[in-house]
Amino acid sequence: MFSYPLSIHLPVSFCKLKSGLDPERNENQFLLVWLWSKVQDPPEEEFSSADLTWKKFGTAEHHDDVALIPYARVDEFIIGECSNVECPTRFHIERGRKRSKGSLKEYKSDEYLEYRLYWCSFGPENYGEGGGVLPSRKYRLNTRNRAARPQSMRGCTCHFVVKRLYARPSLALIIYNERRHINKSGFVCHGPLDKDAIGPGAKKIPYISNEIQQQTMSMIYLGIPEENVLEKHIEYIQRYCGSDATVSTLASQYVRKLGMIIKRSTHELDLDDQASIRMWVERNKKSIFFYQDTSETDPFILGIQTEWQLQQMVRFGHRSLLAADSTFGIKRLKYPLCTLLVFDSRHHALPVAWIITRSIAKADVAKWTKALVDRTRSIEPGWKTNGFVIDDAAMEIDPIRDTFCCPILFALWRVRRSWLRNLVKKCSNIEVQREIFKRLGEVAYGIWGGVNISVALEELIQDFVDQTAFMDYFKSSWVPKIEMWLSTMRTLPLASQEASGAIEAYHVKLKTKLFDDSHLGALQRVDWLVHKLTTELHSAYWLDRYADESDSFQNVKEEYIASTSWHRALQIPDSAVTLDDKGHLFAKVASLKDSSITHLVWNPGSDFAFCDCAWSMQGNICKHVIKVNMICETDEGYKPSMSFQSFREILMDLWKKPMDDSIALDESVAWTRQMLDQTKQLVELNSSNDIGIVVNNMPLKWVSKKGRTFVGIPASLPALPSSSKSITKNLQKNRKRKRLSRLR
Ligand SMILES: [Zn+2]
Ligand SMILES: [Zn+2]
Repeated sequence: MFSYPLSIHLPVSFCKLKSGLDPERNENQFLLVWLWSKVQDPPEEEFSSADLTWKKFGTAEHHDDVALIPYARVDEFIIGECSNVECPTRFHIERGRKRSKGSLKEYKSDEYLEYRLYWCSFGPENYGEGGGVLPSRKYRLNTRNRAARPQSMRGCTCHFVVKRLYARPSLALIIYNERRHINKSGFVCHGPLDKDAIGPGAKKIPYISNEIQQQTMSMIYLGIPEENVLEKHIEYIQRYCGSDATVSTLASQYVRKLGMIIKRSTHELDLDDQASIRMWVERNKKSIFFYQDTSETDPFILGIQTEWQLQQMVRFGHRSLLAADSTFGIKRLKYPLCTLLVFDSRHHALPVAWIITRSIAKADVAKWTKALVDRTRSIEPGWKTNGFVIDDAAMEIDPIRDTFCCPILFALWRVRRSWLRNLVKKCSNIEVQREIFKRLGEVAYGIWGGVNISVALEELIQDFVDQTAFMDYFKSSWVPKIEMWLSTMRTLPLASQEASGAIEAYHVKLKTKLFDDSHLGALQRVDWLVHKLTTELHSAYWLDRYADESDSFQNVKEEYIASTSWHRALQIPDSAVTLDDKGHLFAKVASLKDSSITHLVWNPGSDFAFCDCAWSMQGNICKHVIKVNMICETDEGYKPSMSFQSFREILMDLWKKPMDDSIALDESVAWTRQMLDQTKQLVELNSSNDIGIVVNNMPLKWVSKKGRTFVGIPASLPALPSSSKSITKNLQKNRKRKRLSRLR
């Protein structure tokens, strides 16, 4: 009788993981017969379990996945499995057996000639947990690889068996016992979300993952009381270890110690700021993507990006947008700060890199942008952004365009904000403020013709000549450079109000964190700025994202969701808005909290709409303006937003291009068609609640297209068929390189 012999070959200690397997089941026999006809030989150079079709095998409680491949391709499968983006790892041979050909007189159809049990190198032992160490293995696939070092034993249970079949030595049967990289408690125990056990004490302390360390640190940095931090910390640890008095004691010691370290940590590593920064750089190499110290020939440049930020840049920046909040603190800080942002899953701006430098010279921008892109591609070879949003007309765009190879967009938030803030500060009469803002808006909208800019400016200055304070500011700060700003706005596509609002929200948060009155003396120190960014600000964003993704810390989560005007505007019902139908001069928005309060939005529909609420009076794009503009968008009587107008101009430009009836025309038609399809899909994806409907309506049937064209990158956009091919090729090249370094 045939019986499935898998459990016999497993070490005894593994049997508990596999309880429930019933070796006598008859259907197993049929399964193998079925498998014979299904030898899989994927076309990819290296492939992984995601490229194979698996047959389930076992009982309801526990089953294995099995697949049959050519024996010659086993190595390529293992390499593919190691490159799992969610849990990059190595697999070592935990146990192996061999028999010689002809040694068996009788054998079952799945009898082995060679048997190898491969185990994820983050297991099977768990040094964090103590006890339960399995007999040490005899040999490894690669003793030099880092993942196999005992420090990183996390009790990972991911493992599979490869059997070279006695009956058919050219074939290998892969039996996957546990495909997930989880520990005994069922939690993912390594990979981007769960990276390192920390510190020299990590072996003694119940396994502290990167995630829990970051969580606890974030809470301490954000000033949450120690007892609450401890409570959350223990809650988290117990998920791994169960509850026990020692665990609690150790945890409370750990939290207190961490709190103490944080309290005592100082930005001032040396009295001299420059020396202090050098020391910080020396100690934080992993968080730096570019550093150039001040010298006679070179200016100071420090590019900071933590590993978490790198992951976010890979995740949200790929086939999506990057944006810069440039020249922050140009007057108050020693060196201005430029932040690179991505738009996260809620379209909020998330800082993924900080660059501290005074230099905007082409050569310097080229240096740090290149270093950043190289770093990103070193972990994600096909990484590419679709657009880069700038907010400063003086920014050097050539190096950005050259390095990121993508279109540059322009966001209006900075110019809008400085005009509005200065108006409110320098004019006392709200009606005058509204009117001047509207006129400034007309100058901006004038970039598409119909308005003579210099005449319009002259008239504006004449009409409000009595507003000396504002006009003096405007004449000195804007008139000399307004031509440059307007021409940038005319040449570059304009970013949406949602993007502008999100970048502004980041800018405001940065300002509140950095410019609170307690640190005025430190503003001129770079080490202080670096310390602030990498501790408090980083922690705040980390916790926001964590709270949202793990659905914990409800207060943090709610506050984070509501952190942009766009999201707050979505909460206002249409019924709260009344439009002035005759003159289109204003709109009214009733307050939801207090029905006796109504906000007046002047110049509705325009990016230069003016609201009288407190948030708007501080220069911000407020939820009322955004809500009113959302309603006006569908009403033809109102001006479209500048970004929409700019989009329309681009399409009209394309349309007006003279063409002959040549192949060039065919190519243009094909490209335009492709672009329109993609835009349509993107809009549908964004507005649809049911992704299934969108996918079903797509011309491509994804079901039949098995394989991972973009390894592990969450595809926020449907991939271009043409570009995906070249990316796959690049990936293959890179894999080849990786493979060499991995196997030798
Ligand atoms: Zn693993
Ligand atoms: Zn408002």
